[in-house]
Order: sequence, then C-alpha cells, then structure tokens
Amino acid sequence: MSRVFSGIQPSGELHLGNYLGAIKNWVRLQGEYESFFCIVDYHAIITAYAPDDLRRRRRDMAVSLVAAGIDPARATLFVQSRVPEHTELAWIFNTVTPLGELERQTQFKDKASRQESVSAGLLNYPVLQAADILLYLAEHVPVGEDQVQHLELSRVVARRWNAAFATEEAPYFPEPKALLTPTRRVMGLDGQAKMSKSMGNTVGLLEEPDAIWAKLRPAVTDPARIRKTDPGTPEVCNIYHLHKAFSPPAVVDEVAVKCSTAAWGCIDCKKVLFEHMNAELTPIRRRAAEIRETPALLDDALARGAARAQEVARGTMAEVKTRMGLD
Ligand code: SF4
Repeated sequence: MSRVFSGIQPSGELHLGNYLGAIKNWVRLQGEYESFFCIVDYHAIITAYAPDDLRRRRRDMAVSLVAAGIDPARATLFVQSRVPEHTELAWIFNTVTPLGELERQTQFKDKASRQESVSAGLLNYPVLQAADILLYLAEHVPVGEDQVQHLELSRVVARRWNAAFATEEAPYFPEPKALLTPTRRVMGLDGQAKMSKSMGNTVGLLEEPDAIWAKLRPAVTDPARIRKTDPGTPEVCNIYHLHKAFSPPAVVDEVAVKCSTAAWGCIDCKKVLFEHMNAELTPIRRRAAEIRETPALLDDALARGAARAQEVARGTMAEVKTRMGLD
C-alpha cells in the first residue's frame, strides 16, 4: 500500500471550505493508502500568535478531524511538534535547497510584499513542508491547486538530496506526486473569495443549524436572478456548487433545471440545500460532542499517532544520518 502524507494548520474547528476541499478527500484516502495526517503546529508559529490560543485551535482541529471521519485506527493522526524529527530533517534540507527557489515561491512573494518585515520561517516554510512529506517517504500528497508549487519544491529537495547522498539508480527519497483534490475550491457565502477564516466568510462544520441558515439565507447567488421569474445560470452560483457537494445527483440535476427555467426562487433552492447539508453535518456535530465528553480518548489516539509517526521518522533519520556521515 503506498503512502500519503498531508498536513493541516491548527486553525481551530474545520469550516466547509477545508472540509470539502481537503478533509472529505482524506477520509476517502485513508481506506486506499497508508495515511499520515498531521496537524502542523510548527507551521502555525511563523506569524504572531498567543500560546493558549494555539493550544485551543490545535485541540479544536483534532476534534473536528475525528468528528469528520478521520479514523485514528486506520490513519496515523498526529501533531507535528510531537515528532521533532520534522525540524531536524528541515534543517538538513535547508542545506541543499537553493535560496532562489524559496524566494520565487508565490506565497512568500505575496506575503512578503504586504509586510514590512518577514521572518526567515516564512521563507523556509516550504522546506519544513518538504521535510514533513519526505520524513515518511510519502509517494503521494493530496493537494489543492494552490499548493502544487510547494509540492514541486519538495520534489526539487528530494532530487538534490538524492543527488548528493544516494544514486540515480537507487534514490532514497521518492519524489512525491500530487493527488489533486477533486472538489474545486469552495467559495465563501459572500461569493467574493475562497472560503477562509482570514476572509471572515466561513461556515463552521460544527455550527448549529440556525446559525448555518442565518448565513445561507442571505448568501450571494447568480446576480442575474433579480426577480424570481428571471432564469439563472447555475454554474455561476456558489449555492449550486454547494448542492454538488451535499445533495444527491438527482437533486443537483433538478436544481440546474429549476434554476435555468426560473421554476423556483433562490430561497426554495437554499432550503433544499440546507436540508441536505444538515443530513451530512448533524452526525458530525454529534460525534464532535461525544469526543469532547471523553477527552482522554482523543489524547490517547493522538499519542498513539505520534508514536507511530515517530517510529517511521526515526527510521528515516537514521538512514539520512548514516548517508550523510552524521551517525
Ligand atoms: S436557483 Fe439556486 S442555483 Fe439558481 S441562482 Fe438561485 S440559488 Fe443559485
């Protein structure tokens, strides 16, 4: 069984954007690959933060992941800082990573251009990401389109390290391949930008139905549908794409027809979406409440995940150090 690695920031409870854009896919992958899923708290400290808040966000993320269907008995679920080999390998990789490659990373250029001063951590973030993946000799990484460039850097790092300390015929680190996440990026309910906490346009995975409806009701739809009698174009409407994520195919077809023929209004359409969202989200909310009632079980699962991850990580580091004369 080949191996996948993927990480997620400890950003607190999941929202529909990261649930549909990544985690639903992880749940599927855990049955098909040997899966390592990591809450990447070392990545989260490159900008200012409050330690207690980080602890809370990390915990909330772990609760959300398990509630959403990540099964610690099938996948190795762990917190990055519990496996110090991540930063050890990142240092080693820093020594083979060309500076120019890091400076060319779009996310770095974008953030650096908006800040007066940036930390070296921001520049080296993709090196730690390469270490995260390669520590487990992962062959595949589920990524969204915006992460493909970082993955390319992991491939460059693997190639350069292999060129120095392995042979072309028998490379040590695999060059990880992207498994593109099938769901296209999820827009916020404002219809303006990708759903993200920083944009304040999210719907929390664990939010109560009343709160979800309060956001869904006024959500932006096809601007051409000014009156109920105006036919719409489902493809340009975010609500239609959410139907594709939550509603059965027959309902999605019905939405497309009723929208384009003005057979119903947007509120009718949203009510049907809300019903299907609730059918999927209610069991997740229930599981999250159960997990919070038995915190020791989650602690144990994360400790087991970290132990399993560290077992693999130590094996990789032993080999790396031997090959590099660091043993
Ligand atoms: S009917 Fe549905 S798909 Fe069409 S514009 Fe309204 S909300 Fe969007």
